[in-house]
Amino acid sequence: MTDLASRLARLETHLARFRDTGIRHLIAGQDMAGGDWFETRSPVDDSPIARVALGTAGTVDAAAKAAKAAFPAWAGMSGAARQKILHRIADAIVARADEIALCECWDTGQAWRFMSKAALRGAENFRYFADLAPGARDGQALPSPDHLNITGRTPIGPVGVITPWNTPFMLSTWKIAPALAAGCTVVHKPAEFSPLSARLLAEICHEAGLPPGVLNLVHGLGEGAGRALTEHPDIRAIAFVGESRTGSQIMRQGADTLKRCHFELGGKNPVVVFDDADLDRALDAVVFMIYSLNGERCTSSSRLLVQDSIAGEFEARLIDRIGRLRLGHPLDPQTEIGPLIHKTHFDKVTGYFDIARAEGATIAAGGAPVDGPGWFVRPTLFTAARPDMRIAQEEIFGPVLTSIRFRDEAEALEIANGVAYGLAGYVWTNDLTRALRVSQALEAGMIWVNSENVRHLPTPFGGVKASGIGRDGGQWSFDFYMEHKNVALALGAHAITRLGV
Ligand code: NAD
Repeated sequence: MTDLASRLARLETHLARFRDTGIRHLIAGQDMAGGDWFETRSPVDDSPIARVALGTAGTVDAAAKAAKAAFPAWAGMSGAARQKILHRIADAIVARADEIALCECWDTGQAWRFMSKAALRGAENFRYFADLAPGARDGQALPSPDHLNITGRTPIGPVGVITPWNTPFMLSTWKIAPALAAGCTVVHKPAEFSPLSARLLAEICHEAGLPPGVLNLVHGLGEGAGRALTEHPDIRAIAFVGESRTGSQIMRQGADTLKRCHFELGGKNPVVVFDDADLDRALDAVVFMIYSLNGERCTSSSRLLVQDSIAGEFEARLIDRIGRLRLGHPLDPQTEIGPLIHKTHFDKVTGYFDIARAEGATIAAGGAPVDGPGWFVRPTLFTAARPDMRIAQEEIFGPVLTSIRFRDEAEALEIANGVAYGLAGYVWTNDLTRALRVSQALEAGMIWVNSENVRHLPTPFGGVKASGIGRDGGQWSFDFYMEHKNVALALGAHAITRLGV
């Protein structure tokens, strides 16, 4: 049996039960459905995978109430006890990593080579935050002449986590693990295009001993279950990953209940290649950062800014590499690019091929869909682009790179910063002082110099401008999921201003 055939056979054994039961909510530790369903289909061949329970405002209310009821006991548990449970969850993720990766590939179209690692990254996220749990409440002693001030942190309460469809399992753990480590309870609303791995995560958490109600899963649409979650009075905060436009909507929806919001939103990230860079390594990174994960990646370097003295040669080498990228079945271990998530997203991405032509850019590679079934598009490079074109300004979120040439550092910075977004930036140069200057001047939350996106969990992750509000990672995650409290103790009989004497 080939690798692909054996993976398909294993996948089938995992999916069979969902064909019978559908993909259900998990609320207060119980399976729930009832009411309407929607369908999730595989982007590989557009075949139905299973029906999915369609959460309503009522479902969200039940989940929020379960999270509220479970909160005091979970928040009151020692950090060390939470640490143990979170490690057990990580162990269980590792034990079911094959199943998670298979389901994720089939549900999202992402290639096995990336999803097998992403499943294990989910376990790492749990382990990392598990080990921070015992110290999550720690604070500082801040003495003044008259008082000893003692700060501490307490979990904010039940929180809503709303996630997108790109690498959904890993991203969900990235939000849910710190929330649980902090002592919060959670209602998770995963993206409607990729509900499968969220169900696996909820099952894993309960089987590993997470008390009922601590993590609740509600499937559904953004305008339905998603909106209800952001408006629910028992939900204290919303951790959201998705499009910038949706972030604005959520901020409006959460205004009446004064929701604390954390937004990880879109990007149009530049990779700036100067003529003194190690061009072999820069080329590897440029190709990886736009064509891995089908380009459906918030930190993808979707704008190549290349110095004009080397642009011709660099673009020629890029075109050669793009021609060798292997499109195919996501479960084939050779595959580097799979199909896009859904027809609506396929229509959006292929629409930019026409926009590029109309704007007068050159389609130097790709620029066409692949005949069906499935939502495959050819990896694409637009050259001769100007910074003001839509293909240079808007997030396409597919395997589509826009190359723009620049003369000097000043022009590179003007182009790099001339977009609404500011998530990540990548700089390739062997001039140390230039690397420092450019990193300081780039408007982005995260800069990698002579590197692709290599995540280090204690560092702050997030964007500026339309790319987000707030940071994840290390203590930054706890700052979102926890409240700071200051207790001031008088050290003696300081003078109290006396009124009415
Ligand atoms: P999306 O905004 O369409 O949906 C994300 C989630 O929000 C889904 O679960 C959806 O159901 C829900 N939603 C939609 N409307 C809602 C509403 N009115 N109220 C509450 N919830 C609502 O995003 P997407 O298309 O699923 O994901 C792709 C986007 O996510 C891209 O823009 C990408 O850059 C971004 N993203 C950002 C990061 C980051 O860390 N900055 C990471 C991954 C993805």
